[in-house]
Amino acid sequence: MPILSKTTYTLATFTLLAAVTAQASEVNVYSARKEALIKPLLDKFEQSTGISVNLITGKADALLQRIKIEGKASPADIFITVDAGRLHRAKQAGVLQPITSDVLNKNIPENLRDGDNLWFGLSQRARTIFYAKDRVDPSQLSSYEDLADKKWRGKICLRSSNNIYNQSLVASMIDNIGNEQTLAWAKDLVSNIAKPPAGGDTDQLKAVAAGVCDITLSNTYYFGRLMNSDNSDDQKVVAKVGLFWPNQQDRGVHMNVSGAGVTKHARHKDNAVKLIEFMTSSESQAWYAAVNSEFPVLKTAPVSDALKSWGEFKADSIALNKLGENNRAAVELMDKARWK
Ligand code: FE
Repeated sequence: MPILSKTTYTLATFTLLAAVTAQASEVNVYSARKEALIKPLLDKFEQSTGISVNLITGKADALLQRIKIEGKASPADIFITVDAGRLHRAKQAGVLQPITSDVLNKNIPENLRDGDNLWFGLSQRARTIFYAKDRVDPSQLSSYEDLADKKWRGKICLRSSNNIYNQSLVASMIDNIGNEQTLAWAKDLVSNIAKPPAGGDTDQLKAVAAGVCDITLSNTYYFGRLMNSDNSDDQKVVAKVGLFWPNQQDRGVHMNVSGAGVTKHARHKDNAVKLIEFMTSSESQAWYAAVNSEFPVLKTAPVSDALKSWGEFKADSIALNKLGENNRAAVELMDKARWK
């Protein structure tokens, strides 16, 4: 009997020790961002803390589905994805837990993180207007609303409505100008397209350069990637396409984020919080934003030269929560407007 209890005690001690060691030594990240856009930062975190980071990358919706299916058994501690609309989907799916962190609250502006502390913006991108320099005078441009004007008939390229980026733009417009006005806008915008929506943001920029259309909408980092490319065809696109900041007289340019949340069943919660906090430090912010031509969320972090060349602009300060909350309405509205 005494021997048995001693054994039991020893086993319990071992289990406890193992749990403590696991907590201290690792963190598991499920990331919808490509490895190159995040791995060097995770390596730095590993070096400076001794906490090893296990990274799994994949498509955003598939990773979210995986966390849901794995449930309590999920090894994921952190979920990283792009677009507030997708971060909201993770929130709604119930796979995240609220995090109270003075560091995150201080480093990330309030509108760029979830009101219930379930997700936190880590880098910003603007979805702005791009135009053909030889066919459009920027003085003709003014706002997203103006793209619905008859003067642009047959001159606009648009990405499809099943893409989250356009859904989030429409969601922001619903918040700003209301459902009815946004629907009227979307209908007129769709009647201005040069061809049926197809391809990604880079394809839209290339279509403008190729003369298929004169104007499009794209996230800024796609243009930044072309600017940083060694490919001469990409450089030709950059030479032909101009960037315009719309709505500077009113709400500002539509912004979105990449972001992260700690999973509901995280086994390494403290390490997960530490890693997200690390990603908001000045040095991390400068790297994380620059590697994908994005804007830091930390106001004091330096911005890359490519981004500086686009000039100062006024950004829409809408709480990004609303992009997720209005997502369903945006999808329905785009459907009604026959935005393919
Ligand atoms: Fe993207």
